[in-house]
Amino acid sequence: MDTKKDLTRLRKKLDELLHLRSALALASWDQEVNMPPAAAESRAAMTAYLSGEYHTKLLALDENGLLTGLDAARRNHTLKPRGAAMIRELMRDYTLAAKLPMAFVIEFAELTSRAQHIWAEARSKNDFPLFRPWLEKIVKLSRIKAELLGGNRPYDTLIDTFEPGMTSEELSITFVELRDALVTLVGKIRANKTKIPKGPTGTSPIADQKSFLDFINLKMGFDAQAGRLDPSTHPFTNGAHPTDVRITTRYNEKDLWTSVGSDIHELGHALYEQGLPVKETGTPLAEAVSLGVHESQSRFWENMVGRNKNTWEFLYPEMRKRFPAFRKYGLDDWYRHLHAVTPTLIRTESDEVTYNLHIIIRFEIEKELIEGSIGIKDLPEIWNQKVRDYLGIRVPDDAHGVLQDVHWSGGMIGYFPTYTLGNLYSAQLHEAIRKDMPDFDKKLAKGNFLPIRDWLREKIHRHGRFYSAPELMRRATGSSLSVAPFAAYLTEKYSDLYDL
Ligand code: MG
Repeated sequence: MDTKKDLTRLRKKLDELLHLRSALALASWDQEVNMPPAAAESRAAMTAYLSGEYHTKLLALDENGLLTGLDAARRNHTLKPRGAAMIRELMRDYTLAAKLPMAFVIEFAELTSRAQHIWAEARSKNDFPLFRPWLEKIVKLSRIKAELLGGNRPYDTLIDTFEPGMTSEELSITFVELRDALVTLVGKIRANKTKIPKGPTGTSPIADQKSFLDFINLKMGFDAQAGRLDPSTHPFTNGAHPTDVRITTRYNEKDLWTSVGSDIHELGHALYEQGLPVKETGTPLAEAVSLGVHESQSRFWENMVGRNKNTWEFLYPEMRKRFPAFRKYGLDDWYRHLHAVTPTLIRTESDEVTYNLHIIIRFEIEKELIEGSIGIKDLPEIWNQKVRDYLGIRVPDDAHGVLQDVHWSGGMIGYFPTYTLGNLYSAQLHEAIRKDMPDFDKKLAKGNFLPIRDWLREKIHRHGRFYSAPELMRRATGSSLSVAPFAAYLTEKYSDLYDL
C-alpha cells in the first residue's frame, strides 16, 4: 500500500464532497434570502437529490478499502499528526453514515420536510393535536436512528451527532447547577424595583443600519472579500468554504439592537468559518469541531463584546452620527437597555440571563421523550408547568409554548443543549482571554477588536477538528466544561446593573 498515493486519491474524493456541500449550502442560503416562493418544490427536489448523492459519495470514500486502509496506517502510527487527525475524523463521519441505510435516510428526510410544513400550520393555528401524530413519528424514527447508530443510551447517541463526546449525564449535572444559579438570580432581579430604560424613540432607516453593520463587521475583523451580509427572517451563518461565508441579520426600524445584536452574533460564527485553515478545505481539519464550540464564538462576540460597555464607548459616537434617534439618548441608558431582564415565553426573544432556562426546559423534556418516560399527549402540560417553575410565567397557548421552535419538526432532537454549551464555553473563553489580555476592555473602548479575533483564531479557529471539542476547550481555557465562569459573569454584571 502506498500511503502517499492513497492520501492524494482521498483528497480528490474529498474535493468532490466539498463541491456538493458548497452547492447545497448555496442553495440553502438562496432559499432563505432570494428564492421566489414558487420555487420551493423544485428546490426541495434538488436538495434531496444532492443530499442523496452526498450520502453515496461519502460511503464511496472507502471504495476498495481506501479509507479503512488509511485508518490502519493511522493506527500503526505511520501518518503525520494532521493526516492522522484527518483520517480519524473522516472515519467517524463515514462510520456514522454507513450505519444508516439509504432507505432510512430518505424516509427521515421526507418525514421531517413534510413535518416542518405541518408544524408551521399548527403553530399559526395554535393547534398542537394537528402536529402531535407527526411528532410521534419523528420521536419514533429518532429512536430508530439512535438504535441504528448504536450505543446504550439513545439520547446520548443523538446528542453525539451534534456535540461529539458529550453525554446527557454530563449535561444533566451541568444544567442542574446552572438552573439553580439562574432561578436564584432571576428571582432576585424580579423582586428588585430598578427600572431599566426603554430604547430611544424614532426610526433608524434600514439602509443606514446596513452601513453601520458593515462598519462594525469591518472593525471586528470580518473579511468582506470572503463573505457577505444579507437580510433574512431568521438570522444565520452559512459557511461552505472559508472564502465564502454568508451571514444574515434581520431589521427593525424601531429597534437598532435587533439588527446589531443578530449581526454581531452571526459575525462570531463567521469569524470561526473564515478562520479555518483554507489549505485544508474539504477535510475535517477545516471544519468546525462542534455546534457548542460554534455557538461559543457567536455568544462571545454578541455578549462579551457586543454587550460590553467599553465596546459602546467606541461605537456610540459613530451611532449618534448615523442615527438622529440617538442624539438625545445617552450611552448609559443604552447600555442598561441592552441588559433588561424580563422572562419571556419565546426563547429567541429572551435575554442573556433567562435564555438558558429555555434551553434547560427543552433538554429535560426531550431526554424524557426519547427515553419514553413521558407521552407526547402530555407535552403541553409538562411544558407549561416547567415554564411556570423556572421562569415564573404562565403560558397562554401552545403557539407560545410547546409549538414555538422549529427544531423538533426538523428532526433535530439533541440539538438544543449545544446552545447552552456555547454560553458556558463563551464565559470560559472570556475568563481566559482576560488573563492573556489584561487590557481587554481598553482594546474594546478603542475599537481595537482585531487582537481579540486573532486570539480566538489562534486558540480555536485554526484547529478545525484536530482536537476533540472538550480537548480544544481545555487547551484554550485551562479547564473543562464549567458553570462557574458563566454564573460569575452574570452575577457580577447584573448585580451591578440591578443594584442587587
Ligand atoms: Mg448561533
